[in-house]
Amino acid sequence: MKKNFFAAIILAGMMSAAGTTALLAMPACGPLPAAMAAVLQDEKTVVSPDGKTFLKVGLKGDGQPYYKVGYYAEDKDGKKEVMMVEDSPLGLVTNYGDFSRGLTWVKDQAGERDIRYDLERSKASRVDKKATTFTVRLANAKKQEMEVEFVVEDHNVAFRYHLLKPGETGSVRVMSEATGFQFPGKTTTFLTPQSDAMIGWKRTKPSYEEVYKADAAMSERSQYGHGYTFPCLFHVGEDGWVLVGETGVDSRYCASRLGDAQDGLYKLEFPMPEENNGNGTVEPAFALPGYTPWRTLTVAKDLAPIVETTITWDVVEPRFTTQNKYKYGRGTWSWIVWQDGSINYDDQVRFIDLAAAMGFEYTLVDNWWDTNIGHERMEELIRYARSKGVELFLWYSSSGYWNDIQQGPINIMCDPITRKKEMRWLKEQGVKGVKVDFFGGDKQETMRLYEAILSDADDFGLMVIFHGCTMPRGWERMYPNYVGSEAVLASENMVFNQSFCDNEAFNACLHPFIRNSLGCMEYGGTFLNKRLNKGNDGGTTRVTTDIFQLAAAVVYQNPIQNFAITPNNLTDVPAFELDFLKAVPTTWDEVRFIDGYPGRYVVLARRHGQDWYVAAMNAGKETLKLTVELPMLAGSEVDYYHDGKDGKTPTMEDAKVGKNGKFKLTLPTNGAAVLKGQAVNQ
Ligand code: CA
Repeated sequence: MKKNFFAAIILAGMMSAAGTTALLAMPACGPLPAAMAAVLQDEKTVVSPDGKTFLKVGLKGDGQPYYKVGYYAEDKDGKKEVMMVEDSPLGLVTNYGDFSRGLTWVKDQAGERDIRYDLERSKASRVDKKATTFTVRLANAKKQEMEVEFVVEDHNVAFRYHLLKPGETGSVRVMSEATGFQFPGKTTTFLTPQSDAMIGWKRTKPSYEEVYKADAAMSERSQYGHGYTFPCLFHVGEDGWVLVGETGVDSRYCASRLGDAQDGLYKLEFPMPEENNGNGTVEPAFALPGYTPWRTLTVAKDLAPIVETTITWDVVEPRFTTQNKYKYGRGTWSWIVWQDGSINYDDQVRFIDLAAAMGFEYTLVDNWWDTNIGHERMEELIRYARSKGVELFLWYSSSGYWNDIQQGPINIMCDPITRKKEMRWLKEQGVKGVKVDFFGGDKQETMRLYEAILSDADDFGLMVIFHGCTMPRGWERMYPNYVGSEAVLASENMVFNQSFCDNEAFNACLHPFIRNSLGCMEYGGTFLNKRLNKGNDGGTTRVTTDIFQLAAAVVYQNPIQNFAITPNNLTDVPAFELDFLKAVPTTWDEVRFIDGYPGRYVVLARRHGQDWYVAAMNAGKETLKLTVELPMLAGSEVDYYHDGKDGKTPTMEDAKVGKNGKFKLTLPTNGAAVLKGQAVNQ
């Protein structure tokens, strides 16, 4: 459908200076806030290509820029505006000028943008859509200028600041941002707190490994008093959902977070001074002209656009291109269940053999290999792995002068000289990637380290996984060798503590809507042991079903999945479970949200080539009976994996999806189902 959607951009009252004229020109939608009486610049409305999502931008009487976001709904009284993000502040304060108040509207420009790219490593391999753009130029009292750039897609809004070059000034330090997100009073939240800095294991926090609270009141204080890390999900009652994120963060800015709400206003905050052991500034700096990262809002009445959004990749560009061809896939890693004691030559051989038996591409050798195996014997191990058709990832600490980590190798990835020397050795040995763990926080200094590791690693043909780290922010598209970040309470916590096993389903049913919607997530899941120790006879107890573990391989999205299976699983689980893992892809062409509610249950469909995988999980206290609509598999024969009549016996059988696309699922508590099939007409 091609239509001229510019006709739909409502430009309410061009540049009228007098407040009365402005008031007359305001579209009649609800009561006017008192501040409008002093408006200097009429609010402008920008709509998405489908005409349904809107953005409003204006200046308050004191010259404070603001924006609002919502959607148009039809009801019996006609078209109405549903405001999802109310009157929210924009602007920033720099070391050479204040761009948060006293601003005047210089000019604005609306446009159209084609968003078209291929990206094998995110949830959609091909994106081809249109967006509306809107850029407003604002000037402060010193006549210094700044632009706010908006991109408005169907269901998504992104914005960033563009600082121009004022005279001879060649660089800027951003002291603070006024950026905020104002939610209606009825909103509840799905958030995870930012932790104190320099606490936890070897003083390594913050590392985006905190607990989520579902459906909390906005008035509730965050656990540590430092607000919340992205992504942040908001439920605006019956009006729908807003997912707030950040993207395009690289070496030229810090990563930000949201502070605690004041009357429903969440303000953007910079990192804490204590992060990174106090080293590095809180305030980011960059060369002029330059840009801040994008802040993104996904806004919808229902959850499909929240789960399916690609906004985090739509507005960023690759930072560099590569000569290398990177291959994604599955891996084994001994550490997750067998822990530190398994980082020795013989146990690594067993996990390489396991990967070979499963047809997996990779084995990850985790911490302490430098001491327990050593670089010399590692060369032998690498040769052994490659003789079996298995490639290796090796673990490194990021440290550094920002924590107390002793697990080796340490003090290599932090320094460009040692890092490149090590990477040269890795390349010579044929190692394919590194996992770098325990980063120092969200300051620009740490963002520079992430980017430096990625850039150097690509020179040596190495892929990079980050752990103990920040959330990725568009990095799948920005860095060709970036293949995963933890930034979640990952599978290791289930080994450490029973409560994480007990909450496994709750967390799994949150991630598709929040953390894993805006970035890949290296969770390290799919345990097939019942007990999470080496003997499968002690330690913590998994409470979810085997089918749940298979479903996790589909629900969790990361281009390289290190599965938590162990050599004993080759003989102690049903063969069909192994066959499922042997075939399961780790890159997807498409995702479709079928049903669910964050933290309660989820049904997702992911497509790889012709194959559809539909995964359903239940975190509720009751057995859940669902009739799901699967138009993509209407009339198709499928492999149907479920928990059996007793709700715990792993079962696979042939089934057929109804011609009308309907299929009935029964999901026990902590249970799941998976359907695998191809569209009948293909
Ligand atoms: Ca971790």
